[in-house]
Amino acid sequence: MTKKALVTGASRGIGRAIAGRLASQGYDLYLTCLHSMDALTEYAHELTEAYEVKCLPFQGDMGCAADVERLFSSAPIRSLDVLVNNAGISYIGLLQDMTPEEWDRVLSTNLTSCFLTCRLAVPLMVHAKKGRILNISSVWGAAGASTEAAYSASKGAVNSLTKALAKELAPSNIQVNALACGVIDTDMNAMHSRETMQELAAETPLGRIGTAGEVADSILYLCSEHASFITGQVLGVNGGF
Ligand code: NAD
Repeated sequence: MTKKALVTGASRGIGRAIAGRLASQGYDLYLTCLHSMDALTEYAHELTEAYEVKCLPFQGDMGCAADVERLFSSAPIRSLDVLVNNAGISYIGLLQDMTPEEWDRVLSTNLTSCFLTCRLAVPLMVHAKKGRILNISSVWGAAGASTEAAYSASKGAVNSLTKALAKELAPSNIQVNALACGVIDTDMNAMHSRETMQELAAETPLGRIGTAGEVADSILYLCSEHASFITGQVLGVNGGF
């Protein structure tokens, strides 16, 4: 039977690259975006034509329980081999200047979204006695970044969620891992000046920032049989950062 994967936040950046790699491996896809339904629909058509896979675009807020329930019921999603929790936002600014609403938005998009998708995906995977859950985290989740307290806290929590859920689901043969990305060339970093990006590249031992395709390749590895004994890990994809 054709394998099925759900990728959240797939309209651009890392999520889009992950969707492309999974389609190239023959996965049928459920893809989500927050606003860019036209772009996501066009991309879904491209992938369908290129790889002869089914590709269903969906618009909704992955931090909102009702939207995630709508995603699973309207498709409807009846089985899932791979869940990639990629949707995320950054917030840069002093903690004291952040409003409670801004804090909630970062936490709901980056962390609560993982809970909301997992609570609906896990029963399907338990039933099948297999599954792979991949959470996209950040180096800041372990290290903490100045002016990114909420973001760092959300990704630190994603790392803990990954480890705890991996233990909970191991008896059902479901593997749960996180990818802690370093600096990756996507629109999320568009607010940084050229100089800042050059500094971040210089701080990265490999001497450059990473590409979304490189993160997607790591996802393919963790979905593959080559990673059959890996669970509960936070894998750094960071050029040595
Ligand atoms: P991006 O801004 O290019 O893409 C983010 C995607 O998430 C978009 O498709 C957007 O529509 C979607 N999204 C945002 N809020 C959403 C919501 N509430 N519901 C549904 N979808 C939503 O960013 P990116 O760089 O591709 O980031 C992808 C993931 O990688 C994020 O979790 C991010 O934290 C993580 N990450 C990125 C970097 C980096 O340097 N780019 C580093 C570490 C971790």
